[in-house]
Amino acid sequence: MPSLKCIDCKTEYPTTARIYTCSACSGLLDVVYPMSEFRGERLMSTWDWRKASPKPIDQSGVWRFRELLPDAGESEIITMIEGNNQIWDAPRSAEYGGLDRLAFKHLGMNPTGSFKDLGMTTGITQAKRLGATRVACASTGNTSASMAAYAARAGMKAVVFIPSGQIALGKLSQALDYGAEVIQIDGNFDDAMRLVRELANESPLYLLNSVNPFRLEGQKTIAFELLQQRGWQAPDRVVVPGGNLGNSSAISKGFRELFEAGVIDRIPKLAIIQAEGANPLYRLWLKFQQSEHVEDLELEPIADAFTLATAIKIGAPVSWPKAMRGLKQSHGLVESVTEQEIADAKAIIGRDGLGCEPASAVTLAGIKKLVAAGKIDPAEDVIAILTGHLLKDPDYTVNYHSGSLGFTDKNGQRIQLESRFANSYVKVPAERKAIFEALSL
Ligand SMILES: *Cc1c(COP(=O)(O)O)cnc(C)c1O
Ligand SMILES: [Zn+2]
Repeated sequence: MPSLKCIDCKTEYPTTARIYTCSACSGLLDVVYPMSEFRGERLMSTWDWRKASPKPIDQSGVWRFRELLPDAGESEIITMIEGNNQIWDAPRSAEYGGLDRLAFKHLGMNPTGSFKDLGMTTGITQAKRLGATRVACASTGNTSASMAAYAARAGMKAVVFIPSGQIALGKLSQALDYGAEVIQIDGNFDDAMRLVRELANESPLYLLNSVNPFRLEGQKTIAFELLQQRGWQAPDRVVVPGGNLGNSSAISKGFRELFEAGVIDRIPKLAIIQAEGANPLYRLWLKFQQSEHVEDLELEPIADAFTLATAIKIGAPVSWPKAMRGLKQSHGLVESVTEQEIADAKAIIGRDGLGCEPASAVTLAGIKKLVAAGKIDPAEDVIAILTGHLLKDPDYTVNYHSGSLGFTDKNGQRIQLESRFANSYVKVPAERKAIFEALSL
């Protein structure tokens, strides 16, 4: 039976305990499994076999791997057949990044358009097991969209706290349509996060942010599915955007477990990429590499985190200790990229016919930088994770291609980004001749 275990003081709790962090020391919790009971060969054959089964819990790219998930009865599981996200070869992006080849696993192709669905199916299922009827989260957008949908499927009420005026419209529209109560906080994401954590401790609201370890259990199947799609062969490296750092933590936990079960014989190196204006992990990482007393290092929050990639506009990431653990275990890297680099990389990913939301594009921007710096070898076998769908934030994309993408910086100055890979549209009179000319026919 799995249990909950504090990553700091190692205290264990049953999975039926309604806690989000350690009651003894406030440390983050992991769901842990009796790993010695598993045989890699057996897991692989069971999981491969399930791909041919018509049952929803076998078709789900999360629940297919249920031996290594918190136990839930089949009737308790709330699934939307999430996962099954293909890995796409991306030659134009590879060339741009300086790699011989590059592939993207596109998690924007999930029921609500982001990887949050993978964690929400396990999170909502746990809420149901615990008898919760009202669930809550703070969100830069995608968590609320996903939680609202899964809560609706489960017949629960959803309450979402969003920072004022900073969430992409596509995401807000989802939360509204799926029937969530939407509360806009006059503050940033970090304020909303702090408030909802306090509320969850003092009220019946069940918290579904990624501090909740049951969310991360679903998201770790990104690593499982990725390996299954590659015939259980590990890539050299996996590149992930870093915001609240739940996803990078979850993916590294997934690889670690399959390493312990003997499914893979090496753990892929992790690279976490942050936006320059919201890069507290990158700053910690620099200190970590220079310091001799690494155990004492703490993440310093950034009070006024900024990036146009709103999904990763987070200054006080909750899961940083788990992300650091994943980086150490895999000899990983952290990189930080500018708004210009993100915008250009996003346009290139679009040219590969994939497209993504701005936060996802930090992956390619980071790869380009790390290859140029000699930290990633061009011959490496790299998988980058696209976290959200292009249509989540269409304003950003249209502004880029029409040459009007920009922002106001801390000093109140307008910064205009260059649209180096713009694909602007042309206007012509409604006449045959004009169209022939415009298309050079
Ligand atoms: C949530 C999210 C992220 C950041 O993931 P974390 O787990 O918070 O680090 C990145 N991209 C998109 C599209 C997201 O929705
Ligand atoms: Zn503890």
